[in-house]
Amino acid sequence: MDLIVTKFGGTSVGNGERIKLAAQSVVNEYMKGNQVVVVVSAVNKTTDDLIELSDNAIGDGLTEKRKAEILAMGELTSVRLVSAAIESLGVKSEFIDPYSELWPIVTDTNPLEAKIDFKTTNKKAKGLKELLNQGIIPVICGFLGKGPSGEITTLGRGGSDITAFLIGQCLDADEVIIVTDVDGVMSTDPNKIEEAELLEKISVEEMTELATHGAQVLHPHALKYKNPLINSKIINFDKGDLTQKGTKIEGPFKGDLMRSVTLYDEPISVIAIVGDAMLKKVGLIAEVTRVLSDEGINIFGISAGQNSMTVFISKNDSDKAYHLLHDLVIDNDTLSSLSLGEDTAMITLVSPDFIETPGVISNITEPLRKNNINIVEISSSQTAIVVFVEWNDGKKALELVKEVLK
Ligand code: ADP
Ligand code: ASP
Ligand code: MG
Repeated sequence: MDLIVTKFGGTSVGNGERIKLAAQSVVNEYMKGNQVVVVVSAVNKTTDDLIELSDNAIGDGLTEKRKAEILAMGELTSVRLVSAAIESLGVKSEFIDPYSELWPIVTDTNPLEAKIDFKTTNKKAKGLKELLNQGIIPVICGFLGKGPSGEITTLGRGGSDITAFLIGQCLDADEVIIVTDVDGVMSTDPNKIEEAELLEKISVEEMTELATHGAQVLHPHALKYKNPLINSKIINFDKGDLTQKGTKIEGPFKGDLMRSVTLYDEPISVIAIVGDAMLKKVGLIAEVTRVLSDEGINIFGISAGQNSMTVFISKNDSDKAYHLLHDLVIDNDTLSSLSLGEDTAMITLVSPDFIETPGVISNITEPLRKNNINIVEISSSQTAIVVFVEWNDGKKALELVKEVLK
């Protein structure tokens, strides 16, 4: 017997037929002897509609507390629908919303982006086991939380995915199944590029990276609760079959291992290439990288501006790269000159939290400025920041920026 947590997204319960199909798919697993906990989002685009309605009706006068109460109506309705649909198939079911005694998810007071109190939630969630042991299928509101004074909170848009993995972790589930409107995780958003291909599996790290960069298919925080022993997959609702393959999400969330600060152990050389209106010249970056890659030279970073481009390579390759790029500058009309800079140290900071940490770059640059350390170059993405400083400052800079991730 397995304990399965399955989450139905908005489209998956988007009309009467789909609600019936969802209920049937849950009952099919139950009939095989499995225990099933169901997490449900609001029907279709209900949350969008409620946001639009309340913004139009009340506008700036709407408090976040009231907004959370209004948004909650989506999930308050859908759990009742799904639970009743399961019961109509002859299996006992109870809906669990933040007003229920058994409601497990406790948060802080932030109404719209509430943080989960994992310890309390973990304890309370055990109450659901009593229902399961009585053969009852609990149907839980996704996306919602309950603040310390009993007020309704929400976990942020798309937050039902978090609910599913959180409940899965607290109940030691065997499997978490995310049911959605596409076949699984694809090579890109299939609603944008039709030829997108289904991935059979994806690692927790890659999925987190994809979600952080905006792929809506899973909330970027959901996998924080992916326990190593829990299998999980993302599947399409259309077959009404929870055993279909979809995309498997592999491996545990490594938490702190996904946050790191490292100093590359060898000096990195910087070559600056100067030219006229470089940004408008098609294929310039390709030419530079091809010249180096043809000779097996690895590029650690590249940045391009209006009148210059900087390329970061290992010091061991710098002499060869300098000569190769000089030949390119001579041959290319857009480029006028180049220079080989001092040795630099490369420090890489990685954290899935960067995207939602305002001021993270200044948190890094401030201590360096105070200690008179010159930044040769800095580049950032949503999950990584790379800082180049002069080689002799490397170790000191490493210690200073380490503080940022503490
Ligand atoms: P649900 O309501 O089931 O939670 P969402 O709309 O939140 O569904 O997420 C599913 C959507 O994610 C898909 O309809 C698709 O447009 C989008 N998406 C973006 N990137 C990807 C991707 N790489 N693979 C699959 N779906 C993606
Ligand atoms: N209904 C909520 C939203 O639309 C939560 C979710 O779908 O995960 O954001
Ligand atoms: Mg979603």
